[in-house]
Amino acid sequence: MKVVVVGAGMVGNRFVDELGRLAPQVEIDLLGDESYEPYNRVMLTELIAGRVDLAGLTLPTPDHGRVRVRAGVRALEIDRERRTVVTADGDFAYDVLVLATGAQARVIPVPGLRDGLPRGAHVVRRLDDARDITAATLNASDAVVIGAGPLGVEAACALRHRGIAVTLVAASDLLNRDLDPEVASVAADQAASLGIEVVTDAQVASVGVHAGRVDAVHLADGRTFPAGIVVLACGSAPDTTLAAEAGLDTNVGIVVGHDLRTPADLAVCAIGDCAETPAGVSGLVAPGWAQARALARSIAHASELELPTVAGSAMRLKAVGMSVVTMGARTSTARPDDRVVTLSDRRERRHVELVVRGDTLVGVTCVGAPDLAAHLSTQFDRPGMLPADPMHLLMGTSGIGATESASPTAMPAATTVCRCNGVTKGDLVHAWDGGATTVEALADATLATTGCGGCTQLVCGIVDWLQTTDPPPVPTTSQPDGSGRETTVPTR
Ligand SMILES: Cc1cc2nc3c(=O)[nH]c(=O)nc-3n(C[C@H](O)[C@H](O)[C@H](O)COP(=O)(O)OP(=O)(O)OC[C@H]3O[C@@H](n4cnc5c(N)ncnc54)[C@H](O)[C@@H]3O)c2cc1C
Repeated sequence: MKVVVVGAGMVGNRFVDELGRLAPQVEIDLLGDESYEPYNRVMLTELIAGRVDLAGLTLPTPDHGRVRVRAGVRALEIDRERRTVVTADGDFAYDVLVLATGAQARVIPVPGLRDGLPRGAHVVRRLDDARDITAATLNASDAVVIGAGPLGVEAACALRHRGIAVTLVAASDLLNRDLDPEVASVAADQAASLGIEVVTDAQVASVGVHAGRVDAVHLADGRTFPAGIVVLACGSAPDTTLAAEAGLDTNVGIVVGHDLRTPADLAVCAIGDCAETPAGVSGLVAPGWAQARALARSIAHASELELPTVAGSAMRLKAVGMSVVTMGARTSTARPDDRVVTLSDRRERRHVELVVRGDTLVGVTCVGAPDLAAHLSTQFDRPGMLPADPMHLLMGTSGIGATESASPTAMPAATTVCRCNGVTKGDLVHAWDGGATTVEALADATLATTGCGGCTQLVCGIVDWLQTTDPPPVPTTSQPDGSGRETTVPTR
């Protein structure tokens, strides 16, 4: 069987890796128009901030016998009659075609940006964008970031970290999809404390361009902000062009059924940011990776595909100097009989909010409290895990209840540690037992830490614990019993 995958982004790569492993007899061509090794797109703003380098972004290249990775090759057309993908480097025949074309950054249609991006104006979607922005910081002293979602806030913090004067301009409150207005203002205080000028309720009227280069952003109310760099963080839209031109159904994304196949042509599938499943489009990496896994399994085993459900929504800001983590419900979305427990420390720019439903923590909002956020993420969405009084969860990592349940020893095996990859503590312990005895080896074996990186601290904690309770065996010495660690994964 021949499988062609268009799009060598985070989801296309993962699919090829899974299928190559499960079905070594399948021939796979992975076509990617970017000319880089597979990389972690989620960490691009960390690259702009200078907190990771290119090597730190690189993902493992699928390396199975019959996989051919074609970097720098753009799919120009799908010839569905001939079951062939047309490129400038030749045609690629397929039995199954998987579209993983991702999304494209939105450009707001205001004067100054209507005829393509002038010099100094950037979106943040591809590695080249991040590299261009980083290079631009060498010659610019001020920047305006348009859009105050996670990407806008991360970009603003990254530029500020590089010493640029940054104005963050948005029509709404900061992170308004994830935070209620009062909490958003705490996050805005955090940004302001870094020296970022936050301008909300702002309508961009135009981007000033002089001699082909941006020089300002003008608001509808008459205010003007100088800008040697303009970063557009105004959302993204699924890339449906190739599918639409091939006569496949597109709506917001490429329309697929529960089996991730296009209804008009069952030989064509779509996964990741470009796909619109019956549940809608996602725009996040965890659902895309779950789709990649499910599709690979169903092709490898010729079995029916069950569209995976991914654990509740979570957002972790990756912004230098700011800490915001949200999961599930918040005050404005809590049900009337939910219990909402809040700790607000405005002067320290901290706010923590828990939503408890029965015996389950169904909502967490943590602004300015990263340690507590890491701990609460292990309690989230786990029925029966709450202390008798949920207030104990807010007592900080020095609080008795919190410390006990945050410890890897007390953490149940089924606790999800890496939300991007759905890796539990039990999976990590199992991999450790299989010989993966460093953070890097555990990442290779389970993929934990390879997404947004938010679980790295927890995985390090688990490695420390295992090194103490179950040190890697020395070849001639057998492991004594009673190491303090349970011995079978399912009971942990
Ligand atoms: C800066 C940034 C931060 C993010 N942070 C998070 C986060 O914290 N958490 C989270 O869950 N998500 C985050 N996301 C979103 C996440 O990156 C996407 O959900 C994920 O990358 C989707 O993977 P994908 O493979 O579907 O698409 P992509 O990773 O976009 O890959 C699609 C690839 O297909 C290529 N392509 C398109 N058309 C063609 C063609 N015709 N021929 C060949 N190749 C083609 C594109 O160039 C691209 O390389 C972030 C995104 C960005 C940009």
